[in-house]
Amino acid sequence: MSSIDIAVGQRYESKDDLERRLKLLTVRHQFDFDVETSTLTSYVVKCWVDGCLWRVCASTQGESPAFYVRIYDSKHICSCTERSNRSRQARPDILGELYKNFLGDVGPAVRPTSVGIAITKQFGIKMNYWKSHRTLKFAREIGEGTPECGFESLPSYLYMIRRSNPSTVTHLQIDEFGRFMYVFLAFGASVNGFPFMRKVVVVNSTFLNGKYKGTLLIALAQDENDDSWHWFFTQLKLLIPDDEGLAIISDRHNSIGKTIRNVYTLAAREICTYHLCKNILGRYKGKDAFRLVKKAARCFRMTDFTAIFEEIEAINPVTPESDLSTKLDPFAT
Ligand SMILES: [Zn+2]
Repeated sequence: MSSIDIAVGQRYESKDDLERRLKLLTVRHQFDFDVETSTLTSYVVKCWVDGCLWRVCASTQGESPAFYVRIYDSKHICSCTERSNRSRQARPDILGELYKNFLGDVGPAVRPTSVGIAITKQFGIKMNYWKSHRTLKFAREIGEGTPECGFESLPSYLYMIRRSNPSTVTHLQIDEFGRFMYVFLAFGASVNGFPFMRKVVVVNSTFLNGKYKGTLLIALAQDENDDSWHWFFTQLKLLIPDDEGLAIISDRHNSIGKTIRNVYTLAAREICTYHLCKNILGRYKGKDAFRLVKKAARCFRMTDFTAIFEEIEAINPVTPESDLSTKLDPFAT
C-alpha cells in the first residue's frame, strides 16, 4: 500500500492528480477529508473530524500547474471509529483502482458480488450489487484501457499493422474536428490473394458491442443514409476493381444495394441465399416454398433450376391481381 502514500516534496502534475491520490489514500485508510483551501496555486485538506490534526498542504511553484506537497501531518488524534464513519470518496472509480491494485483478479470469471465482499472486508465500505458492478467495470478498464483510449490508439495501431503485414491497406476517416468516423482495413495476405480467387465478394454488417454500442446503433440507423456503405465500397474498389465478371453478395439491406449499383456499375449484385431462405421461412411457414427455394439455390444446372422454379410457380401462380414479384418476393414491403 506504500505506493499511494503522501510525502513532503512529492510532485503532482495537477491538482486533480493530487486529489485523486488523496481519495485513494483516505479510502484505503478508512477515513475522509474536507477541503480547506482550493485555489489555482494552493490546496489544503484536513481530516473530516473536527479538531483532528491530520492534514496535507500543497502549492504550485512558478508558472507550472504542478502541485508540491509542502506539509504532511500524518497522525490522527481522532478515534478510529469516529473517522471511519464517513467515506464520501469511496466512489466506484476509486474503489476499482484500489481493488485492481491491491485486492484481486478482474478476469471474466470474477463476479461483482465477490468484489463487493472483498472491498467491505478490506476497506469497511458498504457495497450493494450495482456499486460492486460499477467498481468491477472500472477495475477492468484500468487493465484494458478505456474505449476512448482504444479509439485514440487507432492511428498507431494501424501503423503497426501495416509495418508487420506488408501490402496491408488501411484508411482512417475522421471528421473536421478530428473525431473518428470510419476505419477500413484489408490485410496484405487478402489483398495479394484476391487476384487468384473467384470474383465473388460477400458483404455483411453487424452491430458493435461495448460502451459505444448505443451510439453506434443509432449511427448505423442513420447510416441507412448510405454514407458509410458508400465510403466502404469506394475503399474496396481501390483494391477490387469493378468488373463484369465480379459478383457482390449481400442481404437485402437497401443501402447496400443502392451503393453497389452506384459504385460498382459493372459488377452483378446478388442476394445471400441464407438471408433469402430465412425470409421465405418467415413468410411461408410450413409451406413447400421454403424447401423448393433452398433446392433451387443449390442447382448447378440451368435446366434443374428451371424445373424447380416451375414447381414454385405452380404453388404460387402469377395472376393479374397478385403477380409473382409481389407474391413470392419475400422482401416486398
Ligand atoms: Zn483524524
